[in-house]
Amino acid sequence: MIIDTHCHLVHDKYTDMAQVRAESIALGVPHCISQGTHPQDWLPQLELAAAMPDFITSCLAAHPSEAANVSDEDFEYMAKLCRLHPQAAIGETGLDYFWEAPADWDENAYRTRQRVLLEKHFNLAEELGLNISLHTRDKVGTACFDDAFAIARNFPKVRPVFHCFIGTQAQAEAIFTHLDGLISFTGIITFKKSEPQQQVAAWCPADRIMAETDSPFLSPEPHRGKLNIPGRTRFVVEKLAALRGVTPEEMAALTTANALRFFRLPPFLSQAL
Ligand SMILES: [Zn+2]
Repeated sequence: MIIDTHCHLVHDKYTDMAQVRAESIALGVPHCISQGTHPQDWLPQLELAAAMPDFITSCLAAHPSEAANVSDEDFEYMAKLCRLHPQAAIGETGLDYFWEAPADWDENAYRTRQRVLLEKHFNLAEELGLNISLHTRDKVGTACFDDAFAIARNFPKVRPVFHCFIGTQAQAEAIFTHLDGLISFTGIITFKKSEPQQQVAAWCPADRIMAETDSPFLSPEPHRGKLNIPGRTRFVVEKLAALRGVTPEEMAALTTANALRFFRLPPFLSQAL
């Protein structure tokens, strides 16, 4: 049994969540962590998780690409929701220096706003005793990763997972050593031309690795380019198993155990899995 540790199920691309659930269960993925990204999806995330508690646990956060749209009041509203409703983690948040600032924003001010918001998310995670799902994306150099790393270092009680990891082995080692963090892999590792990422996935210590889809995006081979669903974490796990020379069952057991611990999922779920 496999857990999809990162997806976005509140999305207009999905029209029939019962079907998504059924297909995912049929593929051996009976649970997923659906991550919030902006104020309009926070309440729907909670409602969806409440409607399908066997299949979905929610996380709430503001994605760095939403930094221009999320006010301090919005953040406080989200924090209130997180205090009222148990969450798997705080996510998806982070920093994104890949996309340019919106037209009416100065580039430096936009990045500063992202960092301020990220610190707020870490403070909230620390207050609630939760871990955090991080997005980091650089266009050139490593400023985005370095800035997120520096902020995370100020919060030793919060473990980060660097989701959709496409960084270097040296960055992964720094995450493990200095942040007690994890990395997780998407369908990207099933794509051609992803040898550097595959090498990191093959090397990664067993207690630091998780699997995800980032649905509805990044559908793995052999379904690349299609609408992604949590069930396809199966293909990510199968690829990880092949890269690491273990069976798919062993890889599934490993990533699921790591996910249960990292997201502190309730005991009923571990028993059901
Ligand atoms: Zn995501």
